[in-house]
Amino acid sequence: MDKGSKIEPDLFQAALSRLEEAAGHCSADPETLERLRHPMATLHVSVPVRMDDGSLRIFEGYRVRHNDVLGPTKGGLRFHPQVDLAEVNSLAFWMTCKCAAVGIPFGGAKGGVTVNPKELSRLELERLSRGFIQQMAGFIGPDVDIPAPDVYTNPTIMGWMVDEYSRIHRRRMPAVITGKPVPLGGSLGRGEATGRGAYLCIKELEKRRGWDPADIRVAVQGFGNAGQQVAELLHRDGYTVVAISDSQGGAYRDAGLDIPRIIEEKNRSHSLAGLYCHCSVAECDPCENEGTRQITNAELLELDVDLLVPAALENQLTGENAERVKAQFIVEVANGPTTPEADRILDAKGVLVVPDILANAGGVTVSYFEWLQNRSGDHWTLERVRERLAEQMSSAFEGIYTRIADGAMSFRTAAYVHAIERIDAAVNSQGTYS
Ligand code: GLU
Repeated sequence: MDKGSKIEPDLFQAALSRLEEAAGHCSADPETLERLRHPMATLHVSVPVRMDDGSLRIFEGYRVRHNDVLGPTKGGLRFHPQVDLAEVNSLAFWMTCKCAAVGIPFGGAKGGVTVNPKELSRLELERLSRGFIQQMAGFIGPDVDIPAPDVYTNPTIMGWMVDEYSRIHRRRMPAVITGKPVPLGGSLGRGEATGRGAYLCIKELEKRRGWDPADIRVAVQGFGNAGQQVAELLHRDGYTVVAISDSQGGAYRDAGLDIPRIIEEKNRSHSLAGLYCHCSVAECDPCENEGTRQITNAELLELDVDLLVPAALENQLTGENAERVKAQFIVEVANGPTTPEADRILDAKGVLVVPDILANAGGVTVSYFEWLQNRSGDHWTLERVRERLAEQMSSAFEGIYTRIADGAMSFRTAAYVHAIERIDAAVNSQGTYS
């Protein structure tokens, strides 16, 4: 059911302000920009789910296809209590810009269900996932719109969804959804891809700035899939990851955290609580958590570190706290963690922000590889996936970085200009039929 919807302001308007900023720096046709201000299609559905206790609950779900001039629309599905149309519109717009920025032949889309999946049993979650696909089955497709995982969704959920879609259409169509389990046609390396893409951006910075990893102190906000991957890769390279956090709070250790042990603990107990040192200093010596203290998410963002990696949700760096951020480099693994107001403050402080539409594009890039494999019936080795990802990220990084050489615009604006010019070229090649 398409309930039609008016576009809600705030988050989406804030997202569009990046477009307006970039417009001042590029030659894109005003008509292209006008198209990008309006998502092309919106689906708003109610998903009835029979709960384990026999009761019925109705969940609100959304799918927004923002723009498809570069190819079928692409973007994740989020299961989170904060999901609403304004958020999905923003995320869909960012996907259009992200796919264009990194140079893959997709437009942008996003979807989600307003739900706290942690409160559902496994079977309730499966019924919700299948029910959502039943409502969306006419809206998505391998050449039309291709969902994938996002916040609080995962390969298992993608597996249920692709199975449901294939049942509805009475044939196997793995390319309709990416981020599937590998036995169902998922790609090797997709799970690590978002974190690895961000890590590759950090390596590009390392090269250009002549960093010695041991000198670089890092804080990672958000310890989901992408946050864990980036923390682990940096730790392995000798970076000093001094702080990490999840939705409940975080851990700080001045000498650096033992990231592999923390990942193990988090995945075992779903919490960081077992990591803090509660000893008084005198007793601390034999404690395995020696020197690790508990911090809040707000404290993490303001730590005295060199590199800050927001890998949780939107709107974490705001007009309220940006002035107190001490990191000189920010690499955005989350979508939209920095508000436009915070951007202005960080810019004035000379902080270099590698924006979400580049820094977290590794996920959708390997989704593209998965889609290619499904379309061709091929299977790539992990080495091939990693190699192709590294090529794609490095060429996108280079293309954007060269645009900031004269200091006329921020890294974020350069990424948008890079993306918009690609979209504009495609719009202009299409002709003016309407
Ligand atoms: N949800 C991820 C993102 O925000 C991946 C999307 C995809 O693979 O299509 O980029």
